[in-house]
Amino acid sequence: AKLAGLNSSVYYDRQLSSDLERRREIEKDLQSALKDTAQFELHYQTQHDLDGSCIGAEALLRWHRPGRELLATDLFVSIAEETGLMLDLGRWVIDRACEDIRQLQTRALPPGFRRISINISAVQFNHADFVETLLGAIERHEVDARLVAIELTESALIRNSHGAAAKMALLHEHGIEVAVDDFGTGYSSLAYLSQLPVETIKIDQSFVRDIDSDSGNQAIVGTIIALGRALDIDLIAEGVETESERATLQRIGCTQYQGFLFSRPVPLATLIDAWLGNQCA
Ligand code: C2E
Ligand code: MG
Ligand code: MG
Ligand code: MG
Repeated sequence: AKLAGLNSSVYYDRQLSSDLERRREIEKDLQSALKDTAQFELHYQTQHDLDGSCIGAEALLRWHRPGRELLATDLFVSIAEETGLMLDLGRWVIDRACEDIRQLQTRALPPGFRRISINISAVQFNHADFVETLLGAIERHEVDARLVAIELTESALIRNSHGAAAKMALLHEHGIEVAVDDFGTGYSSLAYLSQLPVETIKIDQSFVRDIDSDSGNQAIVGTIIALGRALDIDLIAEGVETESERATLQRIGCTQYQGFLFSRPVPLATLIDAWLGNQCA
């Protein structure tokens, strides 16, 4: 048993150091990608109302690493956060999103379309000049600020809730809304919800998965919906994959949806084509 334990710890060490090597390599490639930002792209995933009409879209980052397979965004975003590269990467995202929103707003947006939401990491949001960066890009690209929303995780809001309140007040003056992303997976504290001006809760996809057959998830989502209603916060379910999941969500009282059932994240051009064809991607 001792020997086996020894062997497995050697194996574990090797595994660990190759993981570390891989992360370092990704960090190095990210550094050069930030000098050649043509490697990055934003895709857009639509959000839908009860009647299926398109009410918004979320910008999702893609990295076309030369000669490599597409890397999961979660993974390289977390590496960027750990290595201090997230600020530059986040600035690129904000700038490109605004450039894209400008394109969308000059063409016909679907009636009832409300927002393009941009994912903002905690490091970015808590940085002193976040609001300035966002407003600067909005101005530079002559974007209607009311079309811009940001998505923050619970940890971004809780870590520095005093600073967060001030920033959110500034954003609101310009009509920029805030959504809480991956709701229910972060902290158990809910106090911030009644203290901070949050417009939308995004119900995490782990609670949406198989909700049609999973009574546990039904109970959790039902509770989140009741909470949202009591606090007058909009709710949108993430990761809706089947009509049966959507119908269950509707029955429980959730009327906004995002997920593969409606659309995968697609390049801007695909979204524009779909809208010009007078239907929603
Ligand atoms: P998120 O913001 O919660 O985005 C939702 C993720 O779920 C996206 O993954 C999306 O493609 C995926 N998804 C949407 N509908 C479905 C569905 O029906 N089924 C399944 N299985 N998945 C679905 P993606 O694009 O890989 O992004 C992963 C995460 O990376 C995001 O989670 C977000 O936390 C982060 N991320 C993406 N883009 C950015 C960005 O520009 N900035 C920052 N800071 N983070 C980003
Ligand atoms: Mg998001
Ligand atoms: Mg999410
Ligand atoms: Mg997520």
